[in-house]
Amino acid sequence: MVLTVDVAPELVGEIDPADVEQLARAAADGWTCAVCGDAGAVDGIAEVVLLREGLVTAARLAHPWCVPDAPVRQVAGLREALAESRPATATAGLAGDVPLLVVDLADTVAGGDPGGERVDKVAAHLLGLGLDLVADLARLAELGAATGWRAALGPDWLTLTQPDRTRLYDGELVLPDGWAAAAAVVGGCVLLVASGLGSHTALDRIGERLAAAARAGRLVGGVVPVI
Ligand SMILES: [Zn+2]
Repeated sequence: MVLTVDVAPELVGEIDPADVEQLARAAADGWTCAVCGDAGAVDGIAEVVLLREGLVTAARLAHPWCVPDAPVRQVAGLREALAESRPATATAGLAGDVPLLVVDLADTVAGGDPGGERVDKVAAHLLGLGLDLVADLARLAELGAATGWRAALGPDWLTLTQPDRTRLYDGELVLPDGWAAAAAVVGGCVLLVASGLGSHTALDRIGERLAAAARAGRLVGGVVPVI
């Protein structure tokens, strides 16, 4: 069984199909109803709901019975909520002998002007912090150094610091065999960041999601020193 994400007729044209796909991917391992706050079933039906405050719109999922006839909801404080730091997951893996570090920001889609151009705020923000757009996973070797970024490894722990000294990730990280040695050889790792990859523990499970994020212009990355 898989999660079915339903888009109300009123929302067609308001939300990009790629955004719906991203919501579905992010929810595959669990999701929370944006209206009642309870967990949703991963093999059930989720209804897309647009939360809106002024010109700010965020797409979320809700139980179908929680949004019987109002798929667009005005929400106070949405702007502030979107600016807060997002929960993230990190996965380490080896692509050949290249040490990869994948950070998935558990964000959902946040748009600007309703009906306007879709903006991946996560990618845009990180491009401004020195990461590059990753359009092709086969060309990771060409990624440049991410100036000012730093990955500090502890036992089963990673602290990933951005150039502005804020932390993009500070939490558990399981390193596969050989990863630390490979990172020591090159003096760093290839960092890949996207939102909506879904939670995961093994890199091979998210290869297709990474490729989709790359094609959609949602994947950013760079070579980050590991200390
Ligand atoms: Zn609900």
